[in-house]
Amino acid sequence: MSAVLLNSVMEPEVSHLVSCIFLFLLIPLLPPSNSSSFQFVKQFTGSKKGDNVRGLQEIRNYLQKYGYLSYSYSKKPNYFDDTLESAVQAYQLNYHLNVSGTLDTNTLSLMATPRYTKWSKFNLSWALQPSTSHDVQGRIAQAFSKWASVSHFNFSKGKEFTHADLQISFLHRDHGDNSSFDGPGGVLAHVNMPPNGKLYFDAEHWAVGAVPGAVDIGTVGLHEIGHLLGLGHSTVAEAITYPFIPAGVTNDLCPAMLGIMKNLS
Ligand SMILES: [Zn+2]
Ligand SMILES: [Zn+2]
Repeated sequence: MSAVLLNSVMEPEVSHLVSCIFLFLLIPLLPPSNSSSFQFVKQFTGSKKGDNVRGLQEIRNYLQKYGYLSYSYSKKPNYFDDTLESAVQAYQLNYHLNVSGTLDTNTLSLMATPRYTKWSKFNLSWALQPSTSHDVQGRIAQAFSKWASVSHFNFSKGKEFTHADLQISFLHRDHGDNSSFDGPGGVLAHVNMPPNGKLYFDAEHWAVGAVPGAVDIGTVGLHEIGHLLGLGHSTVAEAITYPFIPAGVTNDLCPAMLGIMKNLS
């Protein structure tokens, strides 16, 4: 009897740990969700202001995604305009490339390289939009300290929302980034990757902890912060980085995450 009991207690723990080791092995093989694989890098080589280049919109989307363009829409998507040139220059400046505004080989190959993290500092401040409830704030703060305990990052709560490295807000439906939210259920949240780390939660009904029929803000927070720190998705259902979460449950970081984060840094 006692052996059976021990077994039932042990099993979930063991399988969870195995899952995480599996995740660790998978990471170098999985393309991160933020990667942009330019299949036709060659077609852009040497493109500069004034050129007409087929598929240039892909470059705009990339630069917008990483915060170098405030919006990617253009009336003439194939035309290399002033705005695009400035964005390319800002990108080049940030990565210590030759600031030419031209899509040269170095610039394009950097864009085409999937990276898991682009933070150049380890002390990051975070802030929630001012109206966030106390319970939710506590749960998010907890998520950050969990990540701090398994990574080289330190997190502090920023005093001003707009100055924080990681800005977290709750938004309804269309919020200006071509990734509209869908109300209750469905899509729960998404992030903007560094250098402008933003975490957007769908402004739907959130639970704090395991509440039947509702999704735990802490668990989704852990998942999304993982993205902000550079992790892609896992195919392992138990992992915090798995892209789906059922209602009414909570999930946590597993101890093996320490090894994963160490490997990424
Ligand atoms: Zn969004
Ligand atoms: Zn995700």
